[in-house]
Amino acid sequence: MSSDLQDKRVIVTAAASGIGQTIARSFLDAGARVHACDLDEKLLKVSSKNAPGLGTTQADVADPAQVDRLFDDAIARLGGLDILVNNAGIAGPVGPIETLDPEGWNRTIAVNLTGHFLCARRAVPLLKQAGGGSIVNLSSTAGLFGCPNRTPYASSKWGVIGLTKTLAMELGTFGIRVNAICPGCVAGERIERVIRAEAETRGIGADEVRTSYLRQSSMRIFVEQDDVANLVLFICSDRGAKISGQALTVDGHTETLTV
Ligand code: NAD
Repeated sequence: MSSDLQDKRVIVTAAASGIGQTIARSFLDAGARVHACDLDEKLLKVSSKNAPGLGTTQADVADPAQVDRLFDDAIARLGGLDILVNNAGIAGPVGPIETLDPEGWNRTIAVNLTGHFLCARRAVPLLKQAGGGSIVNLSSTAGLFGCPNRTPYASSKWGVIGLTKTLAMELGTFGIRVNAICPGCVAGERIERVIRAEAETRGIGADEVRTSYLRQSSMRIFVEQDDVANLVLFICSDRGAKISGQALTVDGHTETLTV
């Protein structure tokens, strides 16, 4: 499916673990050249050991100077850019709005939305130089529905879709495609953390929360990291050449996020 990704120059943010790591590995398997960043230097070292050919820079995507360092490193290594995957995003604080402090709100918006902006503004001149390319932004089904008790996260993910649609309009005539991916709950440590936090907020058991999350999807499923990576690679390949400005779900069809 992805042989046309051979030698494509790719940056994936927050790729030392989780979905970003799976996306970075999938691009490497498809023959692309990949540079990854992550906040966690230790995890990043382990990832580059386990994935020969992966370039890495320790960087917080919310910090403009660190994003500059990421792009300087990546361009020195790759010589240009064809694809940016803005994957970084934190779950943010969980609870009714009156219990949330401004620091938690600010940090969630800074990582999940400003981080995408900071990386896109560095990527776009490089994609123009390359004669076109692709930006993929990780949103969420929480960017398509209201999501009670997760105001900072849902707001940031709706913002990501606004950024995506606007950039698709700005950049279409340059051959640059911009899309958002909206995964449902992805099986793994992060969703387990969210489930525990939600259970605590609501004073119920984690199993009850997990069951109610599963019921949000028509297919009664959690998504796997590979499902997300497969969609990213499809969009960035020639098969996705006419897809832009979309918020694409991979979620077994979410009916609601109210639990
Ligand atoms: P995760 O919580 O597992 O974190 C992955 C990596 O992000 C970690 O290695 C962490 O060190 C890094 N990171 C955190 N803050 C960072 C920062 N400021 N700068 C650079 N790196 C940072 O995340 P995940 O579950 O793999 O999610 C990846 C993306 O997918 C996020 O944007 C998330 O919102 C979105 N998403 C996840 C789910 C899910 O259920 N896991 C569902 C929908 C959308």
